[in-house]
Amino acid sequence: MSNAKVRVELTQNPKQKVPEDQLGFGRVFTDHMFVMDWDEEKGWHDARVVPYGSLQLDPSCGALHYGQAVFEGLKAYNNGGKVYLFRPQKNFERLNNSADRISLPKLDEEFALEALKQFVTVDRSWVPTTEGTSLYLRPLMFNSEENLGVHPAKKVTYLVMASPSGAYFTGSLKPMRLFVENEYVRAAVGGVGFAKTAGNYAASLKGQLKAEQYGCQQCLWLDAKEHRYVEEGGAMNVFFKVNGEFYTPALTGSILPGVTRDSMLQLLRDRGEKVHEARLDVNDLFEKAKTGELEEMFCTGTAAVVTPVGALVRENPTTKEVEEVTINGGETGEYTRSLYEELVNLQLGKGEDKHGWLVEVCDAE
Ligand SMILES: *Cc1c(COP(=O)(O)O)cnc(C)c1O
Repeated sequence: MSNAKVRVELTQNPKQKVPEDQLGFGRVFTDHMFVMDWDEEKGWHDARVVPYGSLQLDPSCGALHYGQAVFEGLKAYNNGGKVYLFRPQKNFERLNNSADRISLPKLDEEFALEALKQFVTVDRSWVPTTEGTSLYLRPLMFNSEENLGVHPAKKVTYLVMASPSGAYFTGSLKPMRLFVENEYVRAAVGGVGFAKTAGNYAASLKGQLKAEQYGCQQCLWLDAKEHRYVEEGGAMNVFFKVNGEFYTPALTGSILPGVTRDSMLQLLRDRGEKVHEARLDVNDLFEKAKTGELEEMFCTGTAAVVTPVGALVRENPTTKEVEEVTINGGETGEYTRSLYEELVNLQLGKGEDKHGWLVEVCDAE
């Protein structure tokens, strides 16, 4: 690995580490961060690992005003002897697709991966070791130009921060209840739904709060045009097991192409299951939940891996009454559990890495 292009400035004040059972998600940051700048003249330059800390930003920069920001989320795992990343190339490919959609410059994906490995190596003592924990990595790219005009950025910042994260699940997988959102939409075809942009998250919060009012943890997003076809579950992709076959919404442009979604499709195909990427009518799913044909449902994403869904709640489109259906009696399906275990084992280097998904970073401390 070439260290030539990344300058490293180590912290003089290493932080006290938080005990692994008190980590939570996204609250604790490591000693360092990776930063790199872009401008029209020099392109990407000054790649550096520096002490974690506040940024100096001009108040006029486009990231703050016009949502010119895209991000990624992936994890580094400590399997006892080594630190691994899981399919990081997919994250950089997606970061570039996201960046391009909102007219930010692309990264050299190979260099971005090498730089990420160097950064994680510097902070390797922060990769937690307890089962279910990981070092969550958050690449971020934004318009940092001092200019209120609306235009593609002439000055851009790319950075990566790292946050040791606790086990999402302690013990058992707990099924979520999802509220079918029939008013707000997350994204529309032709918009930025397929891109991991900051604005998509801002737009989703109202739906999230509404779901909570209905006693649900997340919402089930529907398509923007007919409010009828399933898109995503919160900020996760969604899968259904119906009559022994698997379904997930097809990538229409308004759906985020999850790395976990892609991995899950591959695992299902490896198992010889019938898998369909399709348009899924929410009314039909309610009917199939009532008859029991909808056997299991789960959501996928890097943060929570696989989250079972035990109930769907909605306002009936004709009667306006609140209607609820349970899936698998509100319990975690056996098949969902086995997929969760298979994926987690793979990520920890305990399974056979048939598809070359693991990328070794360094020896663990
Ligand atoms: C990040 C994200 C996902 C999950 O993608 P993974 O690559 O599996 O983590 C799903 N939906 C939305 C809206 C997201 O932002």
